[in-house]
Amino acid sequence: MVRPIDILRQYFGYTSFRAGQEEVIQALLDGRDCLAVMPTGAGKSLCFQVPALLKDGVTVVISPLLSLMKDQVDALRAQQIAAAFINSQCTLEEVQESFRQLRQGRIKLLYVSPERLQNEFFTAFMAAIPVAAVIIDEAHCVSQWGHDFRPGYKEIGPWIDSLPVRPVTGAFTATATERVKEDMLNLLGLRRAKVFVGGFDRPNLYFRVVKTTRKTDFLISYLAAHNDESGIVYGATRKEVDKVYTALVKLGFKVGRYHAGLPDEERRRGQDDFTYDRIQVMVATNAFGMGIDKSNVRFVIHWQMPKNMESYYQEAGRAGRDGAPGECILLFSRSDIMVQRFLIEASVRDESLQANELKLMNRMVEYCEDSHCLRRNILSYFGERPQWERCEKCGNCDAETVEEDITQEMRLICMCIDEVKGRFGQTVVSSILRGERTPKIRQYGLSGKAAFGMLSDCDKGAVTVLMREALRAGYIQTAPGRYPTLSLTAAGRDLLDGGTKEKITHHKIIEEETPVVPRRRQAAQKSYDEEKLRPLFKRLQELRRITAQKEHIPPFVIFSDATLWEMAECMPADLAAMSDVKGVGRFKLYKYGPSFLRIIEEYKQEGR
Ligand code: ADP
Ligand code: MG
Repeated sequence: MVRPIDILRQYFGYTSFRAGQEEVIQALLDGRDCLAVMPTGAGKSLCFQVPALLKDGVTVVISPLLSLMKDQVDALRAQQIAAAFINSQCTLEEVQESFRQLRQGRIKLLYVSPERLQNEFFTAFMAAIPVAAVIIDEAHCVSQWGHDFRPGYKEIGPWIDSLPVRPVTGAFTATATERVKEDMLNLLGLRRAKVFVGGFDRPNLYFRVVKTTRKTDFLISYLAAHNDESGIVYGATRKEVDKVYTALVKLGFKVGRYHAGLPDEERRRGQDDFTYDRIQVMVATNAFGMGIDKSNVRFVIHWQMPKNMESYYQEAGRAGRDGAPGECILLFSRSDIMVQRFLIEASVRDESLQANELKLMNRMVEYCEDSHCLRRNILSYFGERPQWERCEKCGNCDAETVEEDITQEMRLICMCIDEVKGRFGQTVVSSILRGERTPKIRQYGLSGKAAFGMLSDCDKGAVTVLMREALRAGYIQTAPGRYPTLSLTAAGRDLLDGGTKEKITHHKIIEEETPVVPRRRQAAQKSYDEEKLRPLFKRLQELRRITAQKEHIPPFVIFSDATLWEMAECMPADLAAMSDVKGVGRFKLYKYGPSFLRIIEEYKQEGR
């Protein structure tokens, strides 16, 4: 009997499954509906592609974007997997050809848009052939609470029910918020679905927050230091994207631009140029999103803070899909908060929705201001509880710190909270401590409090950090509820009463005025010496580019960066050795192996 792992090895050339993949595959093979929530780049596609190859009949994959369908089908075909797509961009002949092959049972994976399900001929046709499974990719599109709502997704549930034999159904997404999850379960017609959430860690990604007002300097030197790599720069608004784009073009960088204000034609061209490695960097708003499955994106830089953690991880996660090291940098300045607040207030009218968005944004600010492990921060947002305190491979774990005595500050915070008797939350407490004369302060007559202005020489960010420290250390606590108020804990009371004699310290990150760049991604999980291997890697990359051009497919479809690095490291001498390299499946081995072996051989000869 053929097992999932055999398919993985033969067709995809990978040696083992990633966290979570096997369970989902097994559920689908057992005929159990499932909803899988895994982060961007985790490898969701394989979870339904492997079962599709093991089952009789065709697996229908519903996907929201035409470009996404085409890329996935290209990638599958490059591994000799029988896949096709039917959408509005196909010619009549192409559609007829797909139907012919479907009738003969020769297609294992069929990608369609949700709108196609409303086509009567298509539905009648599908009712007459064996359907192994229906997969809904980017399943969050069914929810209005999500970020890419698509009305067509609402038709999926009824469509599945209309089939004469109901196939097993799987839904996939990276969006983990409760409301969206509920919608997916209720609206997609899943039955007794097994829900998989997890694998949120992306071990090959290096996270970093850079606090600077000199963002342009940073960006330019970063791009110059990484000029042979693909990356995305995300801006919060079209205007900002245009500004960054123009500045980079002037300096001679090969960049493209993408936002909803550009003509379709320009957007398509930009996306193609990026996919085919004709431009190095894409400057974009979050409109540049789901459609990018390009696996060799090496860095994602956020020019400004995004609106929430969900969006951030989704966007940052587009780096390093191939498993090779990737870097995610967020350039943060406090004015970013105003920008996001403005955007939220301008776009969300409903009051409670707006409050919710602002809360999510505040959590994003917390990430930016965190001085502890960034990876830990992310994972705990997504509900995971890592066993470790520090990942040792993020900007904060690597940062230089100084030990600061904050005993006095902790006392003052406790004093202030005690004084107002747990009536207020963080914002007001911070205003009192900083001695701000806001309307609230006046309204409640708080300027007479003893703690008023006691931390007036700290900026807002610093006070926030201190309060968070007090929460972490357990001197204060927040009451749950709509307006979370702060109160003292027993430890806080003790501190206030002078019971605690020890010095309280924390590690403060030393912010560099001009943060230096080429702190090359400290090998999140890298075993090889990049500098030594680079010459050979570049030659392999060039061969990949030429081959891709000849075949009219994106370069990463042939081999990923990770695969090329491994080739450069192992220098296989024959096909047998080549087949051990991760990402070299049977089909690609025979098709591309010989030419890549030749380059490696040449390189070895020269070295002698
Ligand atoms: P997602 O849809 O979850 O964002 P993809 O399905 O696009 O992610 O997969 C991201 C990348 O990970 C792809 O390049 C894929 O080939 C690779 N990948 C998936 N599973 C594995 C695995 N088990 N081992 C190695 N690489 C994998
Ligand atoms: Mg995907």
